[in-house]
Amino acid sequence: MTEKYLAHSIREKMIADGKRFWAGDNVSEYVTEEIKHKLIDEATEAFELVLDRLLIDRDTDPNSQGTARRLAKMYFNEIMSGRYEQKPDATAFPNHTDDAYDGMLVVRSELKSMCSHHHQPVSGVAYIGILAADKLIGLSKYTRIAQWCARRGTLQEELAMDIAREIMEATGSKDVGVYIQAVHGCCENRGIMAHSSLTQTTVLKGLFKTDPGVKKEFMDNIKLQQDFAPR
Ligand SMILES: [Zn+2]
Repeated sequence: MTEKYLAHSIREKMIADGKRFWAGDNVSEYVTEEIKHKLIDEATEAFELVLDRLLIDRDTDPNSQGTARRLAKMYFNEIMSGRYEQKPDATAFPNHTDDAYDGMLVVRSELKSMCSHHHQPVSGVAYIGILAADKLIGLSKYTRIAQWCARRGTLQEELAMDIAREIMEATGSKDVGVYIQAVHGCCENRGIMAHSSLTQTTVLKGLFKTDPGVKKEFMDNIKLQQDFAPR
C-alpha cells in the first residue's frame, strides 16, 4: 500500500505534458496557493525523514523540533520561490515618441540564489544593461525579474542567460547584456573551502555582442557603478 502524494501526481502530469522541471525551471502553472500548502506539508514529512536518517533527535532537541517544517517553508517561500511564483508583472510603457529614450540603461540588482548542485547560497549582484527599444519597464522591474530568476536552484552561467532572456521578453529589446558577480557557498563552506569564490559571468545579446562600442560602454558603466556602490 503506497500513499499517493500530491507531489507525485503533479510530477506525473508534468512528465505527461513534456514539461521540464529542473531546479532552475519555473513550475508555477502547476502550483496554486492551495497546492503549495499541501506540498509544504508533504515536504515537511520528507525533511523529517532526512533528519531521522542523519541521526538528529528531533523529539528531544528543542532546536530541531520545528526544523523540518522550517526547511519546507523556506524552500517553497524563500530560497526557491522563483520556481513556484508567476513571473512578476512588468507593465511596459511606450517609448516611441519624439523624445524617446535611445541611450543605454544599466541597472544594478542584488541577487540571492542557490547552486543546484549543493543547495548552497549564492550571493551577488547582476548588472543588467539594455538599449531601449519600443517599450520601457519600471526600473524596479529589472530587479524583480532578476530575483525571480535567481530564487531557484541555478548555476551562475544559467542564471545570467535566464535573466537576459526574461529581460528581452519583458522589454522587447534585442540588445541586452547581463553581468553577474557572485560568491558561492559551495566553494566557501565545503570542497576547496576558498575564502573568496568570486565568479563573474557575462551574457551579451544583440549589439552588446556585435558592437564593440556598446560593449565598452556597458563595461564602463559597470565600473562606474562599482566605484559608486556602497560596499
Ligand atoms: Zn555548488
